[in-house]
Amino acid sequence: MSRYFSKKFKALVPYTPGEQPKEMKYIKLNTNESPFPPSEKAMKKAAEAVKNLQLYCDPECRELVKKASEVFSVDTDEILFTNGSDEILNFAFSAFCDETHPAVFPDITYGFYPVFAEINRVPYEEIPLKDDFTISVDDYIGINKTIFIANPNAPTGIALSLNDIEKIVSSNPESVVVIDEAYVDFGTESAVSLIHKYSNLLVTQTFSKSRSLAGGRLGFGIACKELIADLNTIKYSTNPYNINSLTQAVGAGVLEDEEYTKSNCKTIIENREYLTKKLEAMGFFVLPSKANFVFARHDKTDGRALYEALKSKGVLVRHFDSERLRDYNRITVGTKEQIDILTQKIAEEL
Ligand SMILES: *Cc1c(COP(=O)(O)O)cnc(C)c1O
Repeated sequence: MSRYFSKKFKALVPYTPGEQPKEMKYIKLNTNESPFPPSEKAMKKAAEAVKNLQLYCDPECRELVKKASEVFSVDTDEILFTNGSDEILNFAFSAFCDETHPAVFPDITYGFYPVFAEINRVPYEEIPLKDDFTISVDDYIGINKTIFIANPNAPTGIALSLNDIEKIVSSNPESVVVIDEAYVDFGTESAVSLIHKYSNLLVTQTFSKSRSLAGGRLGFGIACKELIADLNTIKYSTNPYNINSLTQAVGAGVLEDEEYTKSNCKTIIENREYLTKKLEAMGFFVLPSKANFVFARHDKTDGRALYEALKSKGVLVRHFDSERLRDYNRITVGTKEQIDILTQKIAEEL
C-alpha cells in the first residue's frame, strides 16, 4: 500500500477471483464458465461491430435492451445492462443500502457481497445458513433491510422455491430485495415474473454462465422502472459507456439464438446428474445443486488436499478455505469428457 492510499479503504479486502492460469492447459472446472463456445450467430455480429470501434458504444444499449425485453417479456425501461452482473450488484449496494437500510445476506454466499458493501461503505449483516447449508427463509421475513440472495446460492448450488422468494419480497415492502439469478437457467424458476407485482424486487442475471460469455462481461437487472431509473443514476454517474460495442453486439446475437442457450443448459443439467451420480458412487457427499456446479466432500480426503492433487494432474476445481467450507470443493459441470477425466483423476487420488 502506498502512503497515498485513501484511509477510507484501509480495511478493504478485495474479492479473490478464481484462478485463470495461462502457463499450462488445465481442464477448467473452477469458475463456472460454460464449456461451450458462444453462439456462431453472436460471433458474426461481434466481427461486424469491430468495424465501428472508432465510435463510442451506445450508452443505452438499445438493441440489447429491445431483444431482452422480448425474451423476458418486460418493458424496455424495466431492464438495465451492465459490465457483468457484478457491476449491477455493485450499483445496487450503492443505490439501495445505507444506515437505515443495511445490506443483509447469508454468511455463505457469493464472496463479492461483503466487498461491495465495504467499497460502498454501507453497513452489512450476515445471516448464518442452517447446518444443511439451506437458507432459513424465516430469518428474512419482515426485516426491512436490503436483502441480497443468490438463487440458486453459491457455492452450495441450493435453490429456494419461487414461493419462498415471494414471501421474502412481499414481507419487506420498505426495502429492496435483490435476487441474484446467475445460475437460474440451470433449472430454477425465475423471479422476473414477480417484478410487476412488487416494486421492491430487483432480479439480476448474467451472460457469463449459461450464455457462454464470461469474457465478454455482460449482465443485467430487471425491476420496475423506478428501481431501474435509480440504478441508471449510478451508472451515468460512473461510466455511461459501461458495455463496449463488441459485447453489445455479441450479446444481441446471443439473444437471437435462445435455442442454442437452451440446448446447452439442457446438456449441463444432464451432465450435472451424471457428475453427481459418479461422485456419489465414489463415496462423495454432494449437495443438491440447481446450478452448473456441484459442491462435494469426501470423508477420506481433505478438501484442500484434493484440490492440490487435482491441480497437479491438470484439473482445476475451486476450494474455499473458510471454516464451514474447507472440507468441500466446488466443481463446475463441464462436458462428459471433462467429467470422465476428473473422476478418473479423483479415483487415482483416493
Ligand atoms: C458468477 C456470479 C456472478 C457474476 O458474474 P458476472 O460474470 O459478473 O456476470 C454474480 N453472482 C453470482 C452468485 C455468481 O456466481
